[in-house]
Amino acid sequence: MKRSFSIFIKLFVILQSISVLCVSEEFDFFYFVVQWPGSYCDTKNHCCYPKSGKPAADFGIHGLWPNYKDGSYPSNCDPDALFDESQVRFLIKMTQVTILVYCFCLFFVYNMEQLTDLMSKMQKSWPTLSCPSNDGLKFWSHEWVKHGTCAESELDQREYFEAALKLKDKVNLLQILKDAVIKPDDRFYDLDKIKDAIEEATGFTPGIDCNIDSSHNSQLYQIYQCVDTSGSDFIQCPRLPRSRCPSRVQFPKF
Ligand code: 5GP
Ligand code: 5GP
Repeated sequence: MKRSFSIFIKLFVILQSISVLCVSEEFDFFYFVVQWPGSYCDTKNHCCYPKSGKPAADFGIHGLWPNYKDGSYPSNCDPDALFDESQVRFLIKMTQVTILVYCFCLFFVYNMEQLTDLMSKMQKSWPTLSCPSNDGLKFWSHEWVKHGTCAESELDQREYFEAALKLKDKVNLLQILKDAVIKPDDRFYDLDKIKDAIEEATGFTPGIDCNIDSSHNSQLYQIYQCVDTSGSDFIQCPRLPRSRCPSRVQFPKF
């Protein structure tokens, strides 16, 4: 009994050290990316409204993505390796059950409990539009696993989602565009005017990404704003994302 307890403690220490190494990945800044639902929905892939109903006609969060200044970015930083049998075969042989329980507790990447009280804010500001209609958990989980786990040196899971929600509330991009007479009315607008309006209102140049609707029109799809590594303040982008936009883009209704 004493012996197995001491093995457990040793394993705990080893796994803890591995986990610290694995989550301490650095990055230079975040992209805070929002999507226009009208542009997600009118492509040939269509969309489905979330189970909570049709989202508001507003930009919705896509994600908060850690990035490097050179344009590359980390992804899926949670140590899958610990779930990879070959990496831990020697440990698994010793105490398979202990390790599985440990991995489950430590690395289960989507802790539902942590999100429960955030749920209604998430549904409002971070709605999913993928099909079939769902509650958004898969989308949020995907964003956490792919991007959030690479910022664990700065934000734990709850802080990550809260940071994104706060950023959304800080800047009302739709209002900024409307104030500049750029409205979601199916008309075409100069890309530079969209960028200028946001830059004038926020002080920072945004990145704009476009997609193509089912009639082959390029349309305003995503807006990128850069954020410091704490996830709280907008900054000038160390590097703008690549853009697929022509000089005039459609702003579709939703
Ligand atoms: P797409 O190829 O549609 O632009 O991007 C596909 C996915 O790759 C995005 O949803 C996002 O998860 C990731 N991605 C694309 N560009 C970037 C980037 O510049 N930075 C980060 N961190 N992720 C990106
Ligand atoms: P990314 O492009 O960020 O790597 O992947 C986004 C993933 O989330 C895709 O698998 C996509 O199907 C799913 N997803 C679910 N809901 C949404 C949504 O509303 N917008 C986008 N862009 N992706 C969504």
